[in-house]
Amino acid sequence: MAYIPSINEERFALAKQNGNGLYSHHNHDSVRDLGVSDVAFKKGQQWHFDTLQVHSGLEDETAHGQNSLPIYNSASFRFRTSKSIEEAYSFEDGPKSQFYMYSRLSNPSNTGFERRIVALELGKEGLSFASGAAAILTVAQSLSTVGDNAVVSCSVHGGTYHQFQVILPEMGLECRIIDTNDLEKVKSLIDDRTKFVYTETISNPKFAVADLEGLSAITRAAKIPLIVDATFTAGGYFSQPARFGVDIVIHSATKWIGGHGTTLGGIVVETGRSDWQSNAARFPRLHTRRGRHGADASLYDQFGKGAYMSFLRWDFMRDTGACLGAQAAQQLFIGVETLSLRCERQHQNAQTVGAWLRAHPRVAWVKYLGFADHPYHKLACKYLQNGFGTVMTFGLKGSIDKAWELVDAFRLIANTPNVGDAKTTVGHHWSTTHKGCSTKENEAMGVYEDLFRLSLGIENADDIIADFQQAFDVVSLD
Ligand SMILES: *Cc1c(COP(=O)(O)O)cnc(C)c1O
Repeated sequence: MAYIPSINEERFALAKQNGNGLYSHHNHDSVRDLGVSDVAFKKGQQWHFDTLQVHSGLEDETAHGQNSLPIYNSASFRFRTSKSIEEAYSFEDGPKSQFYMYSRLSNPSNTGFERRIVALELGKEGLSFASGAAAILTVAQSLSTVGDNAVVSCSVHGGTYHQFQVILPEMGLECRIIDTNDLEKVKSLIDDRTKFVYTETISNPKFAVADLEGLSAITRAAKIPLIVDATFTAGGYFSQPARFGVDIVIHSATKWIGGHGTTLGGIVVETGRSDWQSNAARFPRLHTRRGRHGADASLYDQFGKGAYMSFLRWDFMRDTGACLGAQAAQQLFIGVETLSLRCERQHQNAQTVGAWLRAHPRVAWVKYLGFADHPYHKLACKYLQNGFGTVMTFGLKGSIDKAWELVDAFRLIANTPNVGDAKTTVGHHWSTTHKGCSTKENEAMGVYEDLFRLSLGIENADDIIADFQQAFDVVSLD
């Protein structure tokens, strides 16, 4: 079989970049600097991914000796004194003294979840959202205004495509949608109104692996952020884009991070690569002097490299409101504790089931990044760690109606649009997520009518194979 089991890289990347360089503008006594330094570097120790996934984000959870993250079901938080209100609001873009005021801005359950993903993604600061879609839209809007443009990958999640193809252009952002691995093209499309380049680490369902180093060299030179949706690389397990110069990492936490198909959520992590200074004119929101008297200081003056995340939380998100609920934050936080275990098993299952399917006489084709003949296999070997992801696509011999009969015959495998679930799922982009796209657009995204997506769960691989086999037995081709 033509798949390669794993790549030669150290198995888990240490959270080595999270030294003392964290943004530190929350000098409030109950909330220390956000980030992982406390937990990752306790007594000089560097912890591995699997350890961070259960210990990070708990730094402040010691009030009663609890060893887990409570749900802070509180819409608002009391000001200790009238002076703390004055301090909290004296600079409207971030509190000087009190981190928690109102849960649209910040909530301790969300903080725990944000810190945990920041730790796993080698980031500096995170902000959670109600969903992945909300995170993507809010970031795009926060960086741009009418008349600006962005260079966006043509191979992205269906909902994301619609945002960049229809919703954002109608609001005045011109989206230059292209194959972002065509680096010359990307370079040629960046002008002085370009506010970001957007792509996905592993795209869905084409499994295009972004050339992150190539792209970040271009965006660094142009002094604009490189934003990646890293949902399919599973919260840092299969790749850590921060290592390749990416500025902003976004996840739909609904998928691998939560891991159980229970809860929608999104998260944005800034890696600290952007200085937000060398191209001040392009991001005036971070550099305009503001404050009650109009001349106090700019966000950059106050927060330095943390200016963008301060803006995103305390200014943009504050009034747009796509925040994650505290219950959801806790659910996702618990999901992360088994992230590496789930991914390891799901990856194993992808290899076993993928090889079996590929050899099966009823299967027309199987596409998986782990197969040496996949067009993005080489890039996968460069940018992925711990394996090739847990999703593949396949087509069946016979008509599309026969294929649907087969899907209907599954007993174990669920026909549902979710991925990254602990349970194996099968989905059909053409008739669901990509139904609104034209045939040409679909083809650019790698979506065809005969394509089914298989997201491997953590079941025993023999049972997944047996489910396919019993369905093949029930649905004959003639
Ligand atoms: C699911 C998904 C989204 C949207 O996230 P929601 O949490 O469902 O809003 C965005 N990008 C990718 C790659 C996804 O798989």
